[in-house]
Amino acid sequence: MVNGGLDFGGTCVNVGCVPSKNLIRAGEAAYHAQHSNFAGIRPKGVAIDFARVISDKKKLVATLQQKKYMDVVADFQNLTMLKGWAEFVDEKTILVNGKEKYTALKFLIATGATTHIPDIPGLQETEYLTNISLFDLEEQPKSLIILGGGYIALEIAQAYHRLGTKVTLLQRSDHVLSKQTESVAEELTGHLRNEGLDIFTGLRFVRVSQDNRSIKVVAEQDGEVRIFEAEKLLVSTGIKPNTGKLAADRIGLELTAGGHIKVDEQLQSNIHNIYAAGDCINTPSYVYTAAFEGKTAIENAFSGTGTEINYTSLPWVVFTDPQVAGAGMDEKEAEARNIPYEVSKIELKDVPRAITANDMRGFIKLIRNPETDKLIGARIVAPEGGELIQQLSIAIKYGITVNELAESMYPYLTLGEGIKLAAITFGKDVAKLSCCAS
Ligand SMILES: Cc1cc2nc3c(=O)[nH]c(=O)nc-3n(C[C@H](O)[C@H](O)[C@H](O)COP(=O)(O)OP(=O)(O)OC[C@H]3O[C@@H](n4cnc5c(N)ncnc54)[C@H](O)[C@@H]3O)c2cc1C
Repeated sequence: MVNGGLDFGGTCVNVGCVPSKNLIRAGEAAYHAQHSNFAGIRPKGVAIDFARVISDKKKLVATLQQKKYMDVVADFQNLTMLKGWAEFVDEKTILVNGKEKYTALKFLIATGATTHIPDIPGLQETEYLTNISLFDLEEQPKSLIILGGGYIALEIAQAYHRLGTKVTLLQRSDHVLSKQTESVAEELTGHLRNEGLDIFTGLRFVRVSQDNRSIKVVAEQDGEVRIFEAEKLLVSTGIKPNTGKLAADRIGLELTAGGHIKVDEQLQSNIHNIYAAGDCINTPSYVYTAAFEGKTAIENAFSGTGTEINYTSLPWVVFTDPQVAGAGMDEKEAEARNIPYEVSKIELKDVPRAITANDMRGFIKLIRNPETDKLIGARIVAPEGGELIQQLSIAIKYGITVNELAESMYPYLTLGEGIKLAAITFGKDVAKLSCCAS
């Protein structure tokens, strides 16, 4: 195993999932110390020791990197771990750090991805941050501009805003989470704006500049020039695969136009003994998909099982508050693929769990094929809504019908009951349902 750049464990544990989720929870604790959903419960405020939050985060990352990665592989009999950059010399040989050669019968490329830096005049000359550098800053940025409106940008924006940084999120597309429908994006954007986050969409970036006090982003919105200014700038405009250092050309390893390694359904590249998995191929970029792909690629490479991964019911979560979660297709995708569909959307104001919590932000949306009654997709915007998505993913995967969901018992009062209510309301008006509707 050859790993350069990040520590072993790669993005997720070191500079991705783990630090971001830790800071999101810290931000949430700060938020709840200042905001209550109950008029009779009056919070007394919060003292945020930002440097401590970051140093504790560093400790957590170090602990998990050791326990979940280094300790796990410590007993592996046939594993040699090398620190350094790998490049191909020929189909069966790599060069590590430009010096030592290693040969193998088979290779798995899992080199991941890093922030894509957009081509905006002045950006290269600016001291911008990425997720790698931001999470280690112990001195709290007073203000932060975030370029990007995908899930990573949104999660970081809310976490840092709640920790006391003045955050402005700037997005080129018409709405955040550009691949999702407007209804999902608008719901989330509304709640984030209500908290005080500044979000601007539909921008054309003109230039970025820096003086010794601040960073300026000049952009155009509907023909009008707008200038945004902050102490720090985070670039979070998507990711690009780490394939530039592999010397792919030298061995004729085919890449896509975006630089991903081209693989077939069995994760095999155009060179028969080279497989690839994770963020360096053009599949959904999550740690659980990367791990699943890695395992599948190795099985295919060594035992020829010919396994293909089916992403039809893939669940995913945006860890904002409220969270956004999805599985399967949405209306746009069903439309584009000419699949008949019908939507049932239940607002959280109609879900007892949310009503009693005085927190009715969001909705649960189910999408079914009316010809078969099978669930084909789901979108949720809800506090901790991510916890609901796996059951819907399983329903899609195993062809469970909406009627079967409607006929199941859901504990009263759980947020999950919203799924039953959404299933029932394909044919009924939710306002007419009794408590614990069946
Ligand atoms: C801020 C953030 C938050 C995220 N949150 C989540 C989340 O909550 N849940 C989730 O599922 N996913 C999340 N992700 C995505 C997830 O981290 C990635 O999808 C996942 O880590 C990809 O794994 P990988 O093994 O493909 O690549 P990586 O984890 O990136 O590992 C690739 C490794 O290869 C090294 N490398 C690159 N080129 C070479 C070379 N030529 N030679 C040797 N080594 C090389 C890299 O430096 C790196 O160490 C998040 C990502 C970010 C940035």
